[in-house]
Amino acid sequence: MTASVIDGKAVAAEVRAKVATSVTELAAANGGRVPGLATVLVGEDPASEVYVANKRRQAEEVGMRSVHHQLEDSIGQDEVLALVGELNADHEVDGILVQLPLPAQIDQDAVIAAIDAGKDVDGLTASSAGLLAQGRPGLVPCTAQGVMELLRNAGVETEGAEAAVVGRSILVGRPLASLLLNANATVTVCHSRTPDLPGVCRRADVLVAAVGSPRLVKADWVKPGAAVIDVGVNRTDDGLVGDVDFEAVLQVAGAITPVPGGVGPMTIAMLLQNTVLAARALWA
Ligand code: NAP
Repeated sequence: MTASVIDGKAVAAEVRAKVATSVTELAAANGGRVPGLATVLVGEDPASEVYVANKRRQAEEVGMRSVHHQLEDSIGQDEVLALVGELNADHEVDGILVQLPLPAQIDQDAVIAAIDAGKDVDGLTASSAGLLAQGRPGLVPCTAQGVMELLRNAGVETEGAEAAVVGRSILVGRPLASLLLNANATVTVCHSRTPDLPGVCRRADVLVAAVGSPRLVKADWVKPGAAVIDVGVNRTDDGLVGDVDFEAVLQVAGAITPVPGGVGPMTIAMLLQNTVLAARALWA
């Protein structure tokens, strides 16, 4: 069996096209007003700079207003919190994205907690996480939401499926486990202390790897015909690779995402979708 390869770039383009339509509709109904996304970048981490530049460009491409705040690496916590406070109060800002990680002198949790829950387009505040855990509507972390969109698009049945999520971060693993549970899968969340990880993975109809360990998931960890979603992004001497041994797992799985070109493009698309959702709720 050779798995079908899920094209994240194509699905992300579809999501962005729908977001662009929503932005046009919102503008038409609100005297030309468009949703505004504020990005905050502290320091000059090259990978973060690329991520933020892509977020800003794609926000503008779908017709949103993008406002960027670049802060110095040595900035203090109070100044970051003050900026978040200003953005919370700014009626032209509907979504606030503070690019992580933040420099060591800044308490990341305190900065996330300071973001107005209504503008939390990264879905990382305790309020957003609580709503998701309770299965109630809210702003959902972008990468996890992107994984669900890929599964839906590929026609993967989650209802009654055995799902395994490897990784339990607040950014990916935990929200994804909640989303799969809300979609009526039976979910096992694995982490670095999980005994017999291969055995747990082999039971899964839907297997998601969000670890940050190059090619961790081997072909003999995968149930024949399973949907395998690879969230991992690892820079190696061979270039960018995921958490799944792609070439080998391709021969066993029913569907699989590549790295790059799988989950990656979905993250920004879902951020834009969240910004539209936030604007709709804030303007109502
Ligand atoms: P993270 O916060 O470092 O979490 C990694 C998780 O993997 C932890 O829960 C850890 O377990 C678990 N883990 C580590 N080694 C393990 C092992 N050998 N076996 C089983 N579990 C193991 O990472 P993250 O932020 O969730 O990101 C995960 C990966 O996704 C990274 O490669 C990241 O670059 C990528 N990512 C991609 C996107 C995208 O847009 N494509 C977005 C976000 C993240 P413990 O909790 O026990 O430590």
